[in-house]
Amino acid sequence: MIIAIDGPAGAGKSTVSKLLAKRLGFVYLDTGAMYRALAWVFAKNGQESPSGEETLRAMLAQMELRFAIENERLEISCGGQTLSEELRSPEISEAASKISRLPAVREFLVDRQRRLALQGTGIVTEGRDTATVVFPNAELKVFLTADIRTRARRRLAEYLEKGASMSLEQTERLIAERDEADSRRDHSPLRPAQNSVFLDTSGLAIEEVVEKLAEMVEKLGSGKKRSEA
Ligand code: C5P
Repeated sequence: MIIAIDGPAGAGKSTVSKLLAKRLGFVYLDTGAMYRALAWVFAKNGQESPSGEETLRAMLAQMELRFAIENERLEISCGGQTLSEELRSPEISEAASKISRLPAVREFLVDRQRRLALQGTGIVTEGRDTATVVFPNAELKVFLTADIRTRARRRLAEYLEKGASMSLEQTERLIAERDEADSRRDHSPLRPAQNSVFLDTSGLAIEEVVEKLAEMVEKLGSGKKRSEA
């Protein structure tokens, strides 16, 4: 079973998806981390905005980036170095959004995402295009959102925890810009899939959101059993 959860920055996708996957015993696939990892490698090589389709494809083919599922989670490493916290800075957020416009980058990562999804009995995946492009046949598609203030507060808490110094206004501006860029790009823009369930998490606790989604999954399961009988 594939559960695809999309939505803007700070909607709670990662926290909710992680908890839901754990509850269901499914693999959790954070597709944003893959865009972040590519952005990190480009930055490390001094190539923040790689130009030229051919050069980019050649770079991607040679990249030492490894994506694997370990303990039901996506593990990312580059030349033996595990990438995790270094992918979470505001700079990498912005760089990831920039490179995510490039068709060669999207093709490369979508192919990896589909291959990774073959592992495990079920998968909860989250990002911007997981329900629309990567897994259009997902059994459950969810569009998670929240008002901009709530999303900025959540993101700021994460940044502060990691030692970044930012204000709420700055964070709000940054995520508004990133949403705008993610929604307006030509390739795989952020938008709900036709048959997505729309869930506004503004006034909800994380546990409530997870509970609602788990109920939806359960209903799907019992619907399937009924139609199989
Ligand atoms: O979800 P996260 O904030 O980690 O994503 C970082 C950036 O990667 C997003 O702003 C977006 O531009 C890009 N992304 C994407 N498609 C996905 C996941 C992330 O374009 N499926």
